Amino acid sequence: MNTQTQDALRKDWDTYFMDIAYMVSTRSRCPRRHVGAVLVQGKKLLGTAYNGAPMGVQDCLEAGCMIAEEVEMKLVDGKEQPFKKQRCIRTIHAEQNLLLFTDRTDREGSTVYVTDQPCWTCANMLANSGVIEIVYHRSYPKDSDKVTNLMKQKGIIFRGLDHFEPPAQAHMDVTS
Ligand SMILES: [Zn+2]
Ligand SMILES: [Zn+2]
Repeated sequence: MNTQTQDALRKDWDTYFMDIAYMVSTRSRCPRRHVGAVLVQGKKLLGTAYNGAPMGVQDCLEAGCMIAEEVEMKLVDGKEQPFKKQRCIRTIHAEQNLLLFTDRTDREGSTVYVTDQPCWTCANMLANSGVIEIVYHRSYPKDSDKVTNLMKQKGIIFRGLDHFEPPAQAHMDVTS
């Protein structure tokens, strides 16, 4: 392989760290959603986390998901309509676990790569965590407007990776 081909195949840093976030997400034992997050300072990996039940208690595979039903408003033909939505509340979100398992001093000035656009609660906590940049892949339209607005107010760089393709090994098997 010549140097030019090697350079072309070499992953850029965004892809490199998002790949890792996806691989971390495969540790999740909630069949409804696998989310991974990593903390990066400069080009150094300082922490990894995924969504899961607290240590030492039954998780979603053992006890089943803990389903909460919520009503969400969605725009249909220009009109707001209520929709019932289910989500699993057994797990601590990946971003929250990342904050639980990293030090404040490590987070100051750092970047978080997360497979999914953070929900409002996670975004609110991240906004107070010392990180200066959040990079996500899959969008989460429900909270997107208020989260984007919060990040703008805080001066936190908030960006989605458009042309990213998750590693094949991280594809979620929803049947298991
Ligand atoms: Zn679950
Ligand atoms: Zn969250």
